[in-house]
Amino acid sequence: PAAKVLHGLGAVVTVVNDGDDERSRAQAAELEQWAAARSDSQEAGPGRPTGITVRLGDGATLPEGTELIVTAPGWKPDKPLFLAAAKAGVDIWGDVELAWRLRGLNGRKAAPWLAVTGTNGKTTTVRMLAAILEAAGLRTAAVGNIGVSLLDAVLGSPEDTEEPYDVLAVELSSYQLHWAPSLRAHSAAVLNLAPDHLDWHGSLAAYAEDKGRIYEGNTVACVYNAADKATEDLVRGADVEEGCRAISFTLGAPGPSQLGVVDGILVDRAFVENRQKQAQELAEVADIDPPAPHNIANALAAAALARAFGVPAAAVRDGLRAFRPDPHRIEKVADVAEVAYIDDSKATNTHAAEASLAAYDPIVWIAGGLAKGATFDELVAKSAGRLRGAVLMGADRALIQEALVRHAPHVPVVNLDRTDTGAMSAAVQEAARLARPGDTVLLAPACASMDMFVNYNKRGEAFADAVRALAAERA
Ligand code: ADP
Repeated sequence: PAAKVLHGLGAVVTVVNDGDDERSRAQAAELEQWAAARSDSQEAGPGRPTGITVRLGDGATLPEGTELIVTAPGWKPDKPLFLAAAKAGVDIWGDVELAWRLRGLNGRKAAPWLAVTGTNGKTTTVRMLAAILEAAGLRTAAVGNIGVSLLDAVLGSPEDTEEPYDVLAVELSSYQLHWAPSLRAHSAAVLNLAPDHLDWHGSLAAYAEDKGRIYEGNTVACVYNAADKATEDLVRGADVEEGCRAISFTLGAPGPSQLGVVDGILVDRAFVENRQKQAQELAEVADIDPPAPHNIANALAAAALARAFGVPAAAVRDGLRAFRPDPHRIEKVADVAEVAYIDDSKATNTHAAEASLAAYDPIVWIAGGLAKGATFDELVAKSAGRLRGAVLMGADRALIQEALVRHAPHVPVVNLDRTDTGAMSAAVQEAARLARPGDTVLLAPACASMDMFVNYNKRGEAFADAVRALAAERA
């Protein structure tokens, strides 16, 4: 999409893809045809771009005359192409930077951004935030990894005389923040910070630094997690506009400048409309689906950003009531023989898996996949007491098995020793064998899925299919 947008704006575009497989070649052909058809339909003239050039199988050399690189988030900062660009003084932007720079194109009014990052809970929080903003009657969209792309949200259609949104709820990953130096959000939240994607960023410090960029230049509020000191440190280190406030959320009773929980009610002490009152009641914990602790934290973060934007309390309640979680996020698939089967395929790192493992007891845990440089000792040590058994698969299963041997030697482990797609149905069969009535079989892989599946959705669907087959077998 970035190549098409830039081409449309008159840039001469070279698309660089270091792969040269069938899929890359098909994509290249599609893009070149699209650009050629477009150029044909435009008036030819001096300086008019003639098309898009695609270069396959070379991710190292900087194309002659390059003035700007726009990168896809997956590319690591230490790629030879980027080193060559740095040497030549060429700027590197990500898709977020591009969208940010294209806001307000042709003099249109630009929508402010309420931004969310964190190791886990981003998508959920952004969707909760959009639901709240919608309940307040604002034109908004949840943008980022799901739904509308950021570029589409900012550009709208060419006929629009103004941007189609009043405010955007934007999910940002650490990769995107790395390449978004001039982004300035209205308000932003960092939900939590735990080791993830260290293979990309190089170190936890570099990962934290990239996440912290979300606060740079905020105008109204920097929202952090009072239970996660690392998020507070990022706020303290940020360079913000004068008058921008540090606001935090807590699962306990809130102090001043905090949102928190009192007797099952979400309460705001940071943005109180009525000066006579010390606190504003927002919603009930029971309004949140599911009302698990980590999800209450997500709701408080969403509420804080909405309140920073001036949304009234009643809209926070209505929005949270309207919100429903996405698939593969602690989703109950079925009960079979008095055992609950839960799909948390989206738990792609240890911090997320820890949150869902904390919500059940006893558990037969299905885990494994690509570890992305993570270690499993802390996760296993914290969850050991709740494990009835574990079933492991995927490329890095041995790392989890070693942690189980060290910290949970009593727990029976089935190592499937396979990475083929059919492993999921074998895993469910093994888990069913280990489980007793009243237990929960939990798919919370703590790993990425790409060694065995196209993505975590496919992994979750494979699990759900296997559970339904099991149910049919037992019926
Ligand atoms: P992200 O967009 O950051 O990947 P999601 O909202 O998709 O986050 O949730 C991913 C997974 O992380 C969920 O399946 C759940 O297991 C876990 N999770 C969600 N919110 C939190 C949180 N605040 N803290 C820890 N884990 C969380």
